[in-house]
Amino acid sequence: MENCLFCKIIAGEIPSTKVYEDDEILAFKDINPMAPVHVLIIPKNHIDGADMLNAENSAVVSKIFTVAAQLAGELKLENGFRIVTNVGEDGGQTVRHLHFHLLGGKKLNTALA
Ligand code: 5GP
Ligand code: ZN
Repeated sequence: MENCLFCKIIAGEIPSTKVYEDDEILAFKDINPMAPVHVLIIPKNHIDGADMLNAENSAVVSKIFTVAAQLAGELKLENGFRIVTNVGEDGGQTVRHLHFHLLGGKKLNTALA
């Protein structure tokens, strides 16, 4: 997808600190971390956001959660963590490529909205 920041990261056109990669998924450190551990997990196939998931493209979400659980173990988040996906303008989505924030390493603020 042209002009998509995360597609450019997947293509290697913009550098990132990768923490996991396979054929379908990339995980990399957020450039502006909100917690000691702040990783973004994204599908390599461009999907705009969680509002654009359907029966044809949603299997990767299950795989992303599996990767998140694996990374949480590797990153020593045994005391807990949070997975967040923002959707659209009201949801605070600033990059319109589906991504899941994996946050942890401290007691996270419980405010959801
Ligand atoms: P959103 O606000 O869309 O839920 O999350 C987008 C996230 O992407 C933000 O947490 C932001 O810090 C992160 N981000 C924006 N640009 C870059 C970048 O160039 N590299 C990395 N690693 N993260 C980025
Ligand atoms: Zn994209």
